[in-house]
Amino acid sequence: MKKVYLGVGHGGKDSGAVGYIVEKDVNLQMALACKEYLEANGVEVKISRTSDIDKELTQRINECNEYNPDVAVDIHNNAGGGDGFEVYHTLGGGTGKILAQNIEEEIKAIGQNSRGLKTKRGNNGDYFGFIRCIKCPSIITETVFVDNKADASQADELHEQKTFGQAIAKGILKTLGVNSENKPVTESKPVQVVENTYSYKDFVGDVQKSCGAKVDRIAGSETLSKTVTVSRYKNNRHAVVKPIQRYLNVLGYTEVGYVDGIAGEKFEKAVNRYQKEVLHYKKTDGEITKGNNMWKSLLKLI
Ligand SMILES: [Zn+2]
Repeated sequence: MKKVYLGVGHGGKDSGAVGYIVEKDVNLQMALACKEYLEANGVEVKISRTSDIDKELTQRINECNEYNPDVAVDIHNNAGGGDGFEVYHTLGGGTGKILAQNIEEEIKAIGQNSRGLKTKRGNNGDYFGFIRCIKCPSIITETVFVDNKADASQADELHEQKTFGQAIAKGILKTLGVNSENKPVTESKPVQVVENTYSYKDFVGDVQKSCGAKVDRIAGSETLSKTVTVSRYKNNRHAVVKPIQRYLNVLGYTEVGYVDGIAGEKFEKAVNRYQKEVLHYKKTDGEITKGNNMWKSLLKLI
């Protein structure tokens, strides 16, 4: 059985590049979709993380070498104002370069432009640790630029992230000489990422940041006064939607669904249950109103 190691760039405290989308989150969804696709086609996969946790590069490298796969891919997204996909392989070329070519081909096939195959030289050969220190052929993919609005918009929805992950998988399968016809059975189901590591303080900090309050991770009247009304109908794509979705998940209101930054029906459902159970509202309204009790409750100010 062929074996693949998937490194998921960043995670936990290290969010990676942040722009119109957050790199660590997008990397994870792409990698999970890639894993699912590879496994559906009979490949064994080890993935560096399946939730939003810290996993440093050195840990990924050690884990990968211990696993001893046929190939390894570290999944990232880019920043710096460029446009398009790029992939790094070793200065030595070989299977790593073929892998990079095969993935590039699949990425182009789904409509993303490519900046090409790249190498980077450092003092000890390859610059990137993931390529230099890993014993099997290894590459680093950079799918879109998170800080380029148009480029990022191609990967700001879950189904798009999955399509990119599957394209990476197809390139890997081609390199391994494995048939890539099988579609994962769970393909249409969104992957629910339960983030146990997201704390109350993280939430407060994210609310402060997204609402333009002073960021000290301590909630008070200033934070409350900067909050905005969020519902299916108001500010439903505001930057604060993501932290709310994340935090409601942690609190057990998992019906809020995937953390996609869009307040829709699921969001409303979770808010209604919270209002009923925590705030004992007789009539729920599905809205987190600026400065109101639900905000106070989430921020632990009542
Ligand atoms: Zn990265």
